[in-house]
Amino acid sequence: MSTQDTRTVDRPVLAYIGLGLMGGPMSAHLVSRGWTVRGFDTVPARCDAAGTRGVQICANAREAAQGAGLVLLNLPTTDAVEEVMFGAQGLAQVMQPPQRVVDFSTIAVDRGRDFIARLRAQAGCGWVDAPVSGGPAAAGAGTLTVMAGAHEDDHAAVAVLMADVAARFTVLGPPGSGLVAKMLNQLMVGCLHATVAEFTVLAETAGIEADRVPQALAGGHADGVLFQQIYPRMRSRDFAPRGYVRQLLKDLDMVLAFAKDLQVPTPMTAQAQTLYRLLAHRGHSELDTSAVFKLYERDRDAPS
Ligand code: NAD
Repeated sequence: MSTQDTRTVDRPVLAYIGLGLMGGPMSAHLVSRGWTVRGFDTVPARCDAAGTRGVQICANAREAAQGAGLVLLNLPTTDAVEEVMFGAQGLAQVMQPPQRVVDFSTIAVDRGRDFIARLRAQAGCGWVDAPVSGGPAAAGAGTLTVMAGAHEDDHAAVAVLMADVAARFTVLGPPGSGLVAKMLNQLMVGCLHATVAEFTVLAETAGIEADRVPQALAGGHADGVLFQQIYPRMRSRDFAPRGYVRQLLKDLDMVLAFAKDLQVPTPMTAQAQTLYRLLAHRGHSELDTSAVFKLYERDRDAPS
């Protein structure tokens, strides 16, 4: 077998469904790493953007999945994943082993587990739940943190892909385990965003050089990757979306439902959820998650 043949066996054709903030840069990165990527998104502008970066754009999800070894999903909600997989034109009706799904979306744990079982029963295909952390920049650089659930054979089948997607790829257990880890991740992310907003307004009001605070705290107990990223965004009021307010609110809703099922108290997460619901109510759903800072901004015209 030639080197080219070996590469083709190692690297199945990819279908990529959902070419948004995450799927756009990730699919383009995979093309740059030599993968063949057949993509689809319901928004034509997102298809056009991915097409200019080498993704072969298809008319629908079924066309994209035709002949693909791995079907990658990066969709906004649990309902969207259900529609793509089990709707009237769902992929479950046309997929066959050894095709597999790799779902990078953040979706509800119970429904995600149900989808995995349904695909196995209906089509005999494997499914790796592989939610991610790191945002669009890491998606475009192939340096995401991926937390996954998979059976052993599915784990082995996605290892080569993950080497190009992730700086850290961890399978925590059977299918569904990645979604559980992502709930934990989002509990921390949601609470930290709200905390950093509170922190930032206090730093700005305190009469010190607020821009030097991250440097001053670096390496100490309050330091962190998220803090270093979002504090400057809050300081500069740069709320262009890298991840949407509506998404973090969706995630916090799911974390709370998950914890409630397990009867685990989560008062901090509930507080963060309230703040994000207020932010969405004020019309800021499409802004960056760091826009939670807006709840703390003072109205310049208000009497002091
Ligand atoms: P996005 O809204 O930018 O992208 C989702 C894309 O899916 C959109 O382009 C949308 O048009 C497309 N889509 C919706 N329904 C579809 C369908 N039926 N068929 C084909 N395409 C469809 O969102 P995103 O930021 O890329 O996030 C995607 C997923 O990744 C979400 O589950 C999110 O929670 C998760 N996530 C996002 C980030 C982030 O920082 N943005 C980080 C980690 C995880």
